[in-house]
Amino acid sequence: MKDKTTTLEAVKQYIQEFSDVRGWRKDQNAKDLVMALTVEAAELAEIFMWLHSDEADSVREDPKEFEHLKEEVADVFWYLCRICRHFDIDLAEAVEDKSVKNAKKYPVAEK
Ligand SMILES: [Mg+2]
Repeated sequence: MKDKTTTLEAVKQYIQEFSDVRGWRKDQNAKDLVMALTVEAAELAEIFMWLHSDEADSVREDPKEFEHLKEEVADVFWYLCRICRHFDIDLAEAVEDKSVKNAKKYPVAEK
């Protein structure tokens, strides 16, 4: 799968099927999914823990750490997609709706 050729719906369906064949869906509930998302976000943050801000981008230059970064980003997205499926949230629509609110809250400064 590649971003340019895969829809969000296809990714969500892929994740759901992967979970269903392993019997994970029957155990899922909103609290557990949100907790899992939080843990995965912490694992993502852990990669950067103790790095100075100006060193953070160096993760890209270490193949092992960069692979770890991609894994944790995938884990975060995985649980975000499962939460969307659980609550039947259209992620693209939610992003667009929130952007409308953010645009009102943070208008572009006129020059
Ligand atoms: Mg992880």
